[in-house]
Amino acid sequence: MGYKLSKYLYEDEKEGYVFLYNTYKVDMLKIKKPLFEAIKENLSDIKENPENPVIAKLIEKRYLVEDSVNEDREGDLMYLKTCHSNKQLLLTILPTEGCNFRCEYCYEEHKQNKMSEETQEALIKFVRKNLKYYGGLSVSWFGGEPLLYPEIIEHLSEEFKKICKNFKKPYTAIMTTNGYLLDYDMFCRMKKCNVTNYQITIDGPAEVHDKQRFLAGGQPTYDKIISNLTDIKEKEKSKFYTFSLRTNLTVQSAKAYPKLAQFLKDNFFVDGRFTPRVRIAWNGTNDADYEKNIISDISSIFGEGSSLEQTQENLQKSMYGITDENALRKNFNEIMFAHYPCYAAKANSFIFGPDGRLFKCTVHFDDSKDGVAGYLKPDGHLEVNDTIDAKWITQMTAKDKGKCYDCKAYPLCQGVGCPYKMSVRGRRDDECEAKVAEIISTFRVFSSNEKICADVEEMLA
Ligand code: SF4
Ligand code: SF4
Repeated sequence: MGYKLSKYLYEDEKEGYVFLYNTYKVDMLKIKKPLFEAIKENLSDIKENPENPVIAKLIEKRYLVEDSVNEDREGDLMYLKTCHSNKQLLLTILPTEGCNFRCEYCYEEHKQNKMSEETQEALIKFVRKNLKYYGGLSVSWFGGEPLLYPEIIEHLSEEFKKICKNFKKPYTAIMTTNGYLLDYDMFCRMKKCNVTNYQITIDGPAEVHDKQRFLAGGQPTYDKIISNLTDIKEKEKSKFYTFSLRTNLTVQSAKAYPKLAQFLKDNFFVDGRFTPRVRIAWNGTNDADYEKNIISDISSIFGEGSSLEQTQENLQKSMYGITDENALRKNFNEIMFAHYPCYAAKANSFIFGPDGRLFKCTVHFDDSKDGVAGYLKPDGHLEVNDTIDAKWITQMTAKDKGKCYDCKAYPLCQGVGCPYKMSVRGRRDDECEAKVAEIISTFRVFSSNEKICADVEEMLA
């Protein structure tokens, strides 16, 4: 029979060990170098169900695959299962594009609109017509600021719950909110709407956050958000409700990040329901050099090395050195999850604006002809423009895909990652390199934690 090393492994060598980073299983382990070399030399002699427990473990976790396995075709299947699945009907709903904030880097136009009753009814009819094709309904409330109109969320949630009950299918919901209106009473209202996960942005200690994220009238927002979250943390005991605390890095917030990190560690991350998520702030343009420039500015703050990889590593060390052990695995998975195909690449994902327009991506709504892929009719019928839809929910050309087949990050990104960058606008080699560098540095940072990256022999002891 014989085995080979999976093509989806990165290898690092440190202190007599080989560290193996596995993007297929999103797993890692370390193995003593001489043992690894011996296994590699005898791969062709490995039989089915080997007695050697180390080899059995490497096969089980897909570090080794049978010689006959065609990993490229499995990669194609993986993409089909991820992006053309009917497991769930995924809806992202914008009750409004309006917002009570005016964040410095925000790309939205803050149209002061509100989903009409007619559009709400059309949406309910759409779900009623289509849920039979899916295994369940999952809604993400988005905006603008969705909590400006909680009554819309309540009405739609109630109807969605009834439809799901009739079809005997599960209903789940999450929300992206700025957190200003999320006091404990509002949280309880949203509990009744099945909202169990929130993404809330805190950009720094008050003096930084309030300069980046302020109300439409310019007033500060930090104290109110922190007091809302503290209240919820103290009053709500269920582990069911989780909060991703996101920080958008600009040069200012990067400088202040260590202070914020310490505060969040002491006050929130000690509670496993709260997890950090750090991203480079988006500046609302398609300026491909923006991210590179800001990374280079930020790198000078976070450490000696100025390479992207070194920056990511320093950043992540500063983030994950601060969380408790139990939250580590969750954080690791969450960061890796960010590299998987975005919902915009999924045929089962629909983003509805307040006027019933079908968007594909929550960043590029209105700014290009590719942003609007259809319209919801009052009877719940969705009129889709296939020419636009195809740009988002198919992989890139076969020629470009050749690069992906050689890419060890493929099981995460699957050739689409961000379909806007990889397919609609066109894939760029430097962006792929940046993605790969981030993936490797994430593995490296977590590899120093024994709970996540154990010695394979000790695992079996
Ligand atoms: S990172 Fe780039 S080359 Fe690698 S799988 Fe994604 S799109 Fe393809
Ligand atoms: S397609 Fe890209 S830009 Fe749009 S939401 Fe997805 S990851 Fe973001």
